[in-house]
Amino acid sequence: MRVLIADDELTSRLTLRGLLKPHDCEIIEAETGNQALDIIQSDTPPDFILLDWNMPGLTGVEVATLLRETHTEDYHPYVIIISAYEQEQKIIEALSYGADDYITKPIDGHFLSAKYAVARRIIDTQEKLKYSNRVLEKLAYYDELTGVLNRRAGQASFMVEVERMMRRDQNIALALIDIDFFKKVNDEYGHQAGDRVLQHFADTLSKTLRPYDIVSRYGGEEFMLITEIENAEKARILFDRVRQAVAEQTVRVGRVELTITASIGVHVLTPSSELAIEPVVAKADEALYQAKAEGRNRVVVSSDISEQITGESGVI
Ligand code: GH3
Ligand code: MG
Ligand code: MG
Repeated sequence: MRVLIADDELTSRLTLRGLLKPHDCEIIEAETGNQALDIIQSDTPPDFILLDWNMPGLTGVEVATLLRETHTEDYHPYVIIISAYEQEQKIIEALSYGADDYITKPIDGHFLSAKYAVARRIIDTQEKLKYSNRVLEKLAYYDELTGVLNRRAGQASFMVEVERMMRRDQNIALALIDIDFFKKVNDEYGHQAGDRVLQHFADTLSKTLRPYDIVSRYGGEEFMLITEIENAEKARILFDRVRQAVAEQTVRVGRVELTITASIGVHVLTPSSELAIEPVVAKADEALYQAKAEGRNRVVVSSDISEQITGESGVI
């Protein structure tokens, strides 16, 4: 735990340092309230803060107030005001301005140790909570196996992309990409090998597209890709590059170098298209079905752009 001792008197700082010595903590000292605030606002802020009430410049209570007013959402240090004032009114004042606790001088070592233990428990709990929140957030948006967005997050991104598209008056392509004969990989090399192939596949998709394109796992061995695109021809070129990258990747399973191919169905939509996800996915799915039927390892593009070679919603 990082501890800040802010006190203008050297002897007080030495006493506090001595009392905290048995605890496994890193101690930083400040001689004024302003120095304390600088340390609190640095890149490595303290978790446990002891603030003397009376200091030149900002007082301990003022530092506590500023800290609570400007703190970021995930920074909750444990703040104790230290002072010779013993009146109840003073203690209430310190607590109401943002301190978690109050200790009177002269400081009793056992008392400080007990407070330190409380702070430690609270801060440890906060850390655990922060960690579980991060895990939950990750689980809520990302696919556990491949690390790309999950289906729900992919669908939500569609609306964000559509909104962006309307603002910029650009077209977007939604592609469904499905591994060919993936069942055979599982059957011949086992489910674990299948999982590894899926992970490599997702990596290849993310690396081949641009960072701001959207890659999500739509289900099983089918992924949904969303990208800005000028027209159907550009979409065909882009997704053929994706198809090639997938076909060129190899995944080592034991002594075998596995290769796979994938089929891609794409639908290009414009700001004047029907902008709900279901009909767009349905059109991409139709194109995917056609790609499978025509022999797999290929890209089929349909488009809402009216000057398209084969007309509206035509296939090129
Ligand atoms: P097609 O070319 O027509 O797409 O054939 P396919 O074999 O890829 O399609 P099918 O839908 O018959 O099989 C998909 C397989 O994907 C079946 C399922 O067990 C497997 N699969 C789905 N999710 C996972 C997963 O998370 N891990 C592994 N290892 N396999 C999965
Ligand atoms: Mg498949
Ligand atoms: Mg499938």
